[in-house]
Amino acid sequence: MKTCFFLSMLTPSLRLSILHTPTRMRVQQTCTLHKRRLLSSAVTPKLKVAVVGSGPAGFYTAYRILERIGESSVTVDMFEKLPVPFGLARFGVAPDHPEVKNCQEKFEEVAQSPSFQFFGNTAVGASTTNTSSLIPAPNQISLSLLRTNYDAIVLSYGADADKHLPSSLPGVHLSGIYSARQFVGWYNGHPEFQHLDPDLLRGDTAVVVGHGNVALDVARILLCDIDVLRKTDITEHAIAALSQSKIKHVKIVGRRGPAQASFTNKEVRELMTLDGVGFIQPAADVMKPFAEGGKSLGRVAKRLLQLLQRGSTVKAGDARKTFEFEFLKSPAGFIGDDNNQVSSAMFDIMELQGDPLQKDTKVKATGETVEIPCAASFLSIGYKINPISGVEEMYDDRANHLTNDTGKVVGSEDNLASLYAAGWTKRGPVGVIAETMYDAFETAELIVKDFESGLIGRGSSVRHGWQGVMSDLGSSSNLRIVSWQDWQKIDRSEREMGTKLGKEREKVTNVAEMLKILE
Ligand code: FAD
Ligand code: NAP
Repeated sequence: MKTCFFLSMLTPSLRLSILHTPTRMRVQQTCTLHKRRLLSSAVTPKLKVAVVGSGPAGFYTAYRILERIGESSVTVDMFEKLPVPFGLARFGVAPDHPEVKNCQEKFEEVAQSPSFQFFGNTAVGASTTNTSSLIPAPNQISLSLLRTNYDAIVLSYGADADKHLPSSLPGVHLSGIYSARQFVGWYNGHPEFQHLDPDLLRGDTAVVVGHGNVALDVARILLCDIDVLRKTDITEHAIAALSQSKIKHVKIVGRRGPAQASFTNKEVRELMTLDGVGFIQPAADVMKPFAEGGKSLGRVAKRLLQLLQRGSTVKAGDARKTFEFEFLKSPAGFIGDDNNQVSSAMFDIMELQGDPLQKDTKVKATGETVEIPCAASFLSIGYKINPISGVEEMYDDRANHLTNDTGKVVGSEDNLASLYAAGWTKRGPVGVIAETMYDAFETAELIVKDFESGLIGRGSSVRHGWQGVMSDLGSSSNLRIVSWQDWQKIDRSEREMGTKLGKEREKVTNVAEMLKILE
């Protein structure tokens, strides 16, 4: 089974090359046998699963459920608050990483299943924090309505809020300070951020706070050659603003040391090899314990050290733009000019409180501070889960995810549909798409197990799925649902616009415009 599934997740060419081996026949037989076993175990009525959110977690869970239970025994209805699918695979992944978005092809395949339905422009449960006042409200369906009409509900609605710096820090609300989530959403065409209009004209230095991969994405977009970006699916409004940008130096500031940074070597290497971009070496005293780690450094850390020591392909002195990593600096506030625009970021200088080579070593303030002048600042300190109404009590604020036991939401045991969680909603806003996929499979396996053991889908009360929702809503409902066919129409329109501009697609960034395409 594992091999069968694994093969199906690969790109067609890779799949073929792997199948072109003596084991090919065996693998195919295993797949066929597995399918037959599933079909023979089919029972009526069908298990009705609702999936909330159409990002990688939602789609991988749907994929696995359909594959394991079989299309004849289960239906999956996916609800997405935006008219367009794919979550952060569309609105997060950087435009110059098109290969990462290939997962969308798999999701397109899942959506072709006759047992799958997509309900776009349909939010489940009101958001308990208002993050989308700028976009027309989507259709709203309460979680309790879903829970009376489905057997199982998968909450995979991601993490669409910001982790904030303490509001007590001076200057955190000055203009010119953006969260990375806003900035990323803006250049990737998320409807919520189309009006962000970041000011990149006020000076030549930007400070990015945080040492994760999102921080490196933000830095790379600020530094990248605009003609490289032009060919990607970055929005035209971002191209217009970035081509005027005066930002020439990007300082990427983290509160701990190099061994504790959460960015990955691949992304550091990408920055080091950017055309015309030079790297300024970190201060020697900060690097010393890391550089002297010797045999105690693990393989990944050793590689990072080499990358930092070797530096960029283009030397900083010859570069059109530069970047640097600042370590052991924790945000202490911001200073503004007379127009309330940020002009400096303040940091407490920190020291490590233990082994400088351990990933989890903490820091404490030394009592010294440093001021870094800047014309804009981007806070890339992580995302936050938005507990939708109906699951507030199951949300663990400290852990930043729904309380769950390998995917089963804890505290939802009643006569209504069982609640499951997958992806960032389940384990917090960390992990690349591959990790999200494995995590979604874990949840799907749990649903299969609960189905097979009779815990869900075989009780006395038959659930009516979407028909039940519509009948409960009654004739008063006037929902503008975006179906999968509707999305394909928007998709075609974006690709046509893209062709005219010499790129894969030009995203529609406005919900009203998306719906207009469907008129
Ligand atoms: P999401 O992708 O956020 O999907 C959640 C979906 O739920 C969204 O479509 C959202 O609109 C919808 N939703 C929210 N609330 C509701 C509601 N109430 N009702 C209905 N729908 C709702 N990983 C990589 O492997 N490579 C990369 O290059 C990469 N780049 C990244 C760049 C950024 C800026 C970020 C933030 C992450 C990146 N990742 C990358 C990580 C990857 O995006 C995540 O692992 C993955 O998207 C998480 O999937 P998810 O389905 O849990 O959440
Ligand atoms: P992240 O990896 O968790 O990084 C968050 C950063 O913010 C850390 O450096 C953290 O420092 C710092 N931080 C948190 N709170 C802070 C505070 N109060 N003050 C100062 N600094 C603070 O999160 P992310 O960068 O948002 O990325 C999310 C996930 O998406 C990650 O798993 C990432 O790998 C993935 N992603 C992948 C790619 C890619 O593969 N190319 C691209 C983008 C994102 P501490 O460590 O000290 O807490």
